[in-house]
Amino acid sequence: MSEKNGSANSKVVLLNGVIKSFPLGDDAEVTVLKGVNLEVQRGEFVSIVGPSGNGKSTLLNMITGIDRPSAGEVIVTGQPVHSMSENDLAAWRGDHVGIIFQFFQMLPSLSLLQNVMLPMDFANKYESKEREQRALELLDIVDLSDQANKLPGMVSGGQQQRAAIARALANDPPLVVADEPTGNLDSRSAADVFNLFNRLVKEGTTMLMVTHDKELARQVPRVIEITDGRITRDEYAGAAVWTGY
Ligand code: ADP
Ligand code: MG
Repeated sequence: MSEKNGSANSKVVLLNGVIKSFPLGDDAEVTVLKGVNLEVQRGEFVSIVGPSGNGKSTLLNMITGIDRPSAGEVIVTGQPVHSMSENDLAAWRGDHVGIIFQFFQMLPSLSLLQNVMLPMDFANKYESKEREQRALELLDIVDLSDQANKLPGMVSGGQQQRAAIARALANDPPLVVADEPTGNLDSRSAADVFNLFNRLVKEGTTMLMVTHDKELARQVPRVIEITDGRITRDEYAGAAVWTGY
């Protein structure tokens, strides 16, 4: 049974007392996360909202191990992300976390297909002979099979973001983290992206999405608000439609 669907580890994200400060000049520092405690269970869809500059992206960076906390613990898919070596982090991230950014971050000189294959080449979870077929299947899920050989610059923003989602799913990660994934999309493309996320959650993926889109956040079962580096709201806004675990 894969980890994604297994029962061994239902707590996908666990943050204990996470503090993050950045140096500001010689002796000063700015504390951006001021003691964050958070638990996210397998299969949850969580939206993270809050004013700009209040620590949302920093929080995601703690969870993905892109950056480290100044204090506190970050346990993700059972791994102590706060204390792992860079090499272990890179290997872990490659097949446990799919990351989606506002500006897609596709490699411009590679086709959509090659972009989606890249994480598979890095993680070695899928055999090299099956990677292209898997990438094509993922592009089909995001409705891009007919664009597979195009460069990112030749397709629309919505299409690039859907390809970025396919890339994030390349190694079938248990956790997908998206930082304002619809921030650069028209409302129709945003709805497509959101529908895809819902589909992933139905299949057991745990999904964290930072968004400024109130309409989208309202449709997500659990909403966390970050204000001034603290969780100031954590509620099951969509409780009426949320079916639990
Ligand atoms: P949000 O995603 O909520 O808009 P961020 O987490 O990006 O906010 O940033 C929170 C605060 O931390 C901002 O004031 C930002 O300037 C600061 N910050 C983020 N990254 C760094 C960094 N590497 N060095 C110094 N300050 C940073
Ligand atoms: Mg941000």
